Amino acid sequence: MATTTELMTELRAVSSELIELGRVSRLQGWDQETMMPPKGAVGRARQRAAVQGLLHERLTRPRIGEVLDALAEPPRRGELSQIDAAIVREVRREYDLAVKLPNAFVRELTQASAEGVEIWRRAREESRFVDFAPSLEHIVHLKQLEADYLGYADHPYDALLDLYEPGLTVATLTPLFTALRQSTVALLDRLRGSTVTPDRRLLTQDYDLATQWEIGLMLVRAIGFDLDAGRVDRTTHPFATGLGPGDVRLTTRQRRDNLAELVFGNLHEGGHGLYEQGLDPDLDGTIVGQYVSLGVHESQSRLWENFVGRDAPFWQFNLPRLQAAFPAQLAGVTVEQFVLAVNRVEPSLIRVEADEVTYNLHIILRYEIERRLIAREVRTRDLPDLWNELMREYLGLTPPDDRTGVLQDTHWAIGGIGYFPTYTLGNVYAAQLWSAIRRDLPNLDADLAAGQVAPLLDWLRERIHRPGRLYQPVELIERATGSPPDAAHLARYLDEKFSRLYALR
Ligand code: ZN
Repeated sequence: MATTTELMTELRAVSSELIELGRVSRLQGWDQETMMPPKGAVGRARQRAAVQGLLHERLTRPRIGEVLDALAEPPRRGELSQIDAAIVREVRREYDLAVKLPNAFVRELTQASAEGVEIWRRAREESRFVDFAPSLEHIVHLKQLEADYLGYADHPYDALLDLYEPGLTVATLTPLFTALRQSTVALLDRLRGSTVTPDRRLLTQDYDLATQWEIGLMLVRAIGFDLDAGRVDRTTHPFATGLGPGDVRLTTRQRRDNLAELVFGNLHEGGHGLYEQGLDPDLDGTIVGQYVSLGVHESQSRLWENFVGRDAPFWQFNLPRLQAAFPAQLAGVTVEQFVLAVNRVEPSLIRVEADEVTYNLHIILRYEIERRLIAREVRTRDLPDLWNELMREYLGLTPPDDRTGVLQDTHWAIGGIGYFPTYTLGNVYAAQLWSAIRRDLPNLDADLAAGQVAPLLDWLRERIHRPGRLYQPVELIERATGSPPDAAHLARYLDEKFSRLYALR
């Protein structure tokens, strides 16, 4: 009979191999989005399916189930350290999910997604949803099947939500989104009565691309991102990906006629990167030494992009550096003018360009569509009409074409149905963390105005980054802030911030 120590050694070795294979898969994805020539797509789809298939095969070996069962027996369970208990819990979760999916299905979904993204790319360029529809229909069908394989208690969409945010359900999200939509509509109504008008032209002048790039690197360094343990590259749809705390890839895009794209893209992805670089090196290579959920990940990007990056203290230190790089465009601009310009609120068509107030409406729209798609309540071919109908209802706008409507995001093409809600969940978590940070760090504004991010970063490192998966997302937020997740923090933060900026009452 194997001892607890022997079983744990075996489980750690198995999970470490899975972590490394997962990183190989992410590296393939990063390369596909940054470096790969267009004609590499077909071969890459095969390579990614091969690695995903291998990962799934390794994860579903019956021996893993035996080791997990043996470690779950009462005398052994009590002998586990906190970290080992978390490793057992996390491998159990992934094993239980994986054994429900046939290997051929995993390979088919991976290949359909890798091909889907290339088909979507061309369809978006041509602004023709019909070109993407057959591919999307196949992917949606596979995701419906996946929900059936994985199982659920109430709603098939729950099975997909859980893949990105463990424990998240329609029953939690629907009331949260309803309340958030109401408070957003009320705030937008009040903002329409404001006489304050941001100067939109500040950021939309001619900004040299090479100088922008240097500014982008300066900004990620300014928030504490270590460029010896990461890099920044160009892509069309920015993301960040971690290959371990020592190798974190950020991607970004830039436009000559809009400085905000690169500045806030870099702060956003830089926030993701700080989380990945801040994972505990002692836990690296274990399943617990990874980010805990996409909602928590997004809370880190939003916190730096919006809560820090769209407020005055950060720019008291950094605006002069921007002005030194772009004197012709920004000389004489005050911090107040700049901050107002980067907080212009206006309903718009594109999610990634949306302001903090209207952003969540874009997510709620996608949630409504995905939930109905997975429940087989709407058909893929009806999506452009449904999209436009919801855009009119939520934002009062009608997209002129598919490119600026239903085709704008890559998520569905890569099989990421269930992913979108984690963006708003990230905003909810970020607002709650921000309340706790302001309570715990009374000198925060003065620190940021002096270019000192260390107190804030240390707070996040200790409470959010280093624990990795030691705790579940809800418990992590509760431990960090002292109370369970509560969306009221976000509504209050938005109301206070924009009432102040727009001089309401
Ligand atoms: Zn993000």
